[in-house]
Amino acid sequence: MKQKPTLTFRLESDFYDRLDIFTEKFLTEGLNTFRNEFRNIDSFYSAAINDLSSRDDHSFRRTPKAFYLVEAIYFKVFDEFNRDAFNKAKDTVIIMPQCLALLQDKCRRKRGKYGKICNHCTPNCQINKIDTMASSFGVETYFSKRGLEKQLGKIKRIKPSLSVIGVSCILTLASGMRTARELGVPARGVFLNFTGCDHWTDKPFATETSLSRLKAILEEKYGISYSPA
Ligand code: SF4
Repeated sequence: MKQKPTLTFRLESDFYDRLDIFTEKFLTEGLNTFRNEFRNIDSFYSAAINDLSSRDDHSFRRTPKAFYLVEAIYFKVFDEFNRDAFNKAKDTVIIMPQCLALLQDKCRRKRGKYGKICNHCTPNCQINKIDTMASSFGVETYFSKRGLEKQLGKIKRIKPSLSVIGVSCILTLASGMRTARELGVPARGVFLNFTGCDHWTDKPFATETSLSRLKAILEEKYGISYSPA
């Protein structure tokens, strides 16, 4: 007798009706929960739509508010899902954006094995602080390169049991984690606390992230606590 195939999922006839109701509820509740964090997105979005200049990041800037919420949730689900594999991986690297460097275009970063690395020129720079903290766990930190896939792939070839912590903005963190997943690298992440690079402003300024969240991720993985000297 022919066996019936097992369907991993099968949509019921009212699936789209229920999806409509759920999505509406999710967006209303989510955007209300994060209304303070997201309060300037609509005006940024309108300005980006009306900006007819020849810049090449229109599609990134023209992202409606709902997608910020979806990306944040995507990150959260990913971060939780990867936690166990992340903690079990032998090596970890932290990949950080240029906008986190306090001195911005005067940053004295230098060439490292898998990307630019901090030169510790400014004590108050968050990248400097993150690198110092990471070193105490034996974790290397790198500035992100344009091609994350190539950068992470190169590290993974030398360190096959690799995990990564990404520091990035709400619109890019989950996509970086997807790239890492495709390479078989379990990723966790921490958001930038606010925007500051040239996608968002004509006069870029240094961004910030949550050092305590990064510290908690490292402490959980290595089972030791860290206190700055
Ligand atoms: S401390 Fe490091 S990341 Fe910060 S500005 Fe200096 S070299 Fe750049």
